[in-house]
Amino acid sequence: MQLLQDCEGYVADREHALAGLRRYENEATALEIEQSNDAVHFLYIDKIAEAASNFLTGFPGTCLYAAKANPHPALLRLLWAAGIRHFEVASIREIENLRRDLPMAQLYFMHPVKSRQAIARAYALGVRHFAFDSLDELRKIKQETGHAEDLSLMLRLSVSQVGAAYPLDNKFGATLMEAPLLLTHARQIAEKVGVTFHVGSQCLEVEAYVNAIYNIANMLEGCGVKIDMIDVGGGFPISYPDMEPAPLQDYFDAIAKALMECGFEDLEIFCEPGRAMVAAGGAVAVRVELRRGQSLYLNDGTYGSLFDAGQLGWTYPIELYRAGRLEVLSETSLFQLYGPTCDSIDKMQDRLSLPEDVCEGDWLIFRHLGAYGYAMQTKFNGFYSETVVAIEGGAELA
Ligand code: PLP
Repeated sequence: MQLLQDCEGYVADREHALAGLRRYENEATALEIEQSNDAVHFLYIDKIAEAASNFLTGFPGTCLYAAKANPHPALLRLLWAAGIRHFEVASIREIENLRRDLPMAQLYFMHPVKSRQAIARAYALGVRHFAFDSLDELRKIKQETGHAEDLSLMLRLSVSQVGAAYPLDNKFGATLMEAPLLLTHARQIAEKVGVTFHVGSQCLEVEAYVNAIYNIANMLEGCGVKIDMIDVGGGFPISYPDMEPAPLQDYFDAIAKALMECGFEDLEIFCEPGRAMVAAGGAVAVRVELRRGQSLYLNDGTYGSLFDAGQLGWTYPIELYRAGRLEVLSETSLFQLYGPTCDSIDKMQDRLSLPEDVCEGDWLIFRHLGAYGYAMQTKFNGFYSETVVAIEGGAELA
């Protein structure tokens, strides 16, 4: 086993990463935990390492993992063991948790709107990269870091969300018209200045990144402001049924080409993948507690780890596990799935195709839910799951 050693003696390897988790050679064994009262989260160790390696070797810059996608300590440590050293964070809790779990990690506070307390605490904890999208936020950063001179400030720009399955527009981001003034002010207080954007999650258009880079280059040329960094954000897609994106490397190559053509190749380049880094490396198993006609009542739902999976038009690879083995989904019919809470909106938007004889005690396995599954659980009504198990060897099927 390869030990990854850090200059200040911090050591992380798979053993350390997975301390405290139950580990299984394959999924069939893992599902011994079907006695569990709660949903069960799986981490596929090799898939996580593979995704990290794809970003580390393929992306033309530094890769920050967006911790919001899945902040489980074991996952963070697995990424560290795979070579990820930089993390995008949005809240003081994410910062404190990362400082505890991975003390040597480089953190980038990329939420454009932060509380004053969060800015001050982040700075005290060693964070130097901050995002902003307004003069007021810039002022807050200046004041709460005590007019620090070692800041790296990233202007969040609003860009087209065409091609994104989950658009993120209308909430954050300055316009290109506003950018010159904001960058000029940032220049006066920061050691380094850059721009960042997010094309929307699960972005199926490579051109979305390319167009954003070109628009930024035109804006900078027009106003004559120089930048030191450019961060192309998250949004990199993974495969879902009926949603097959271009290979990740096509995105990296197109981004590298656009950066080169715009004369940005000497800048510090960043990306912030969440979904594409961890989605395939996780799955969630939920149990059918009751069948009533074509309705199934589950032990997890849209207030839990099926929030993302429950959206309209969102399909996941699903399998059924029964009596110790995975069933092939033949002879299916459509079912309405309900989560366990008392709220009637706790249901999957689309009906799901499952075997006609699906019944109480069966487990449904939602694959590719390593991102925005575990992370989005609430504790509403007392239903949530802390059961996370690791799968060795990358075998998905028994
Ligand atoms: N960076 C920022 C600032 C974000 O808000 C998000 C997601 O909301 C991400 C990165 C990760 O995005 P994705 O999961 O689409 O890669």
